Amino acid sequence: MRSLRNIFLALLAVIVISAIGFTFWLRDRYVVPVLMYHHVGIPSGVKWRLNDVSSKSFDYQLNFMKRHGFQVISLDDLVTGLKKGQVFSRNTIVITVDDGYEDNYKYAFPILKKYGFPATIFLVSDWVGKPGCLTWDEIKEMEKHDISFGAHTRHHAYLPRLTLAQQENEIAGSKRIIEGHLGHPIDYFCYPDGGFTENIKRLVAQAGFKAAVTTNRGKDRFDRDFYELKRIHMNNTDDRYSGLILWFKFSGYYNLFRRFRFEGGRMERGTLYE
Ligand SMILES: [Zn+2]
Repeated sequence: MRSLRNIFLALLAVIVISAIGFTFWLRDRYVVPVLMYHHVGIPSGVKWRLNDVSSKSFDYQLNFMKRHGFQVISLDDLVTGLKKGQVFSRNTIVITVDDGYEDNYKYAFPILKKYGFPATIFLVSDWVGKPGCLTWDEIKEMEKHDISFGAHTRHHAYLPRLTLAQQENEIAGSKRIIEGHLGHPIDYFCYPDGGFTENIKRLVAQAGFKAAVTTNRGKDRFDRDFYELKRIHMNNTDDRYSGLILWFKFSGYYNLFRRFRFEGGRMERGTLYE
């Protein structure tokens, strides 16, 4: 009888210690989710891709954040906080939108304003003003309402395939062009298709960017490297299953379960996270 009690106590101790250990292990792995959108709304003539969302879906996703008490902060607040070692509450979210399509102004902007959420849009500098893309006037208007802008190269170039001179032109050039139009520093960079190398990261830092975002590429999945901050693809289909996917993507632990590109066996070849 006594030995049975001892076994029970030992088992209980193992469970308690494991639970405490697991809690600490999880605590170190929490990452503020940085969401990545592209097209919002379905403009005519645009091919519908998986990671575009309809206006209805975008509204649903933002409404979900509001309803469940998520705190949407700007990318700048996140990076500034991370650099200071700030501990973010577990309900924090950052919204980013890539490429600077005109639907960002037409559809995403009114919905962001409705919920009072900040967002960062990454502009392809030489696309601004072209058909289907944002204009400088629209960008300036959005800047007055908590929407900030980052650089996403000059021509949406896949950087790892370019020469050094071309990389510099795409990275520093896009910064210069956007700053020239908006009249203030542009602090954040986004790698087209998430592609970068260690050298490209250095060029981004040298150009004066404070941080850069990618997708699911690189070595660091817990946002300790400011030049490869991970982001989460948001899809039109994320609203399914009564918000279960959204809970998972917004949890801060999504990165733990993602397949990272460097696991594809390409690391041996060097530092290209293709
Ligand atoms: Zn892009």
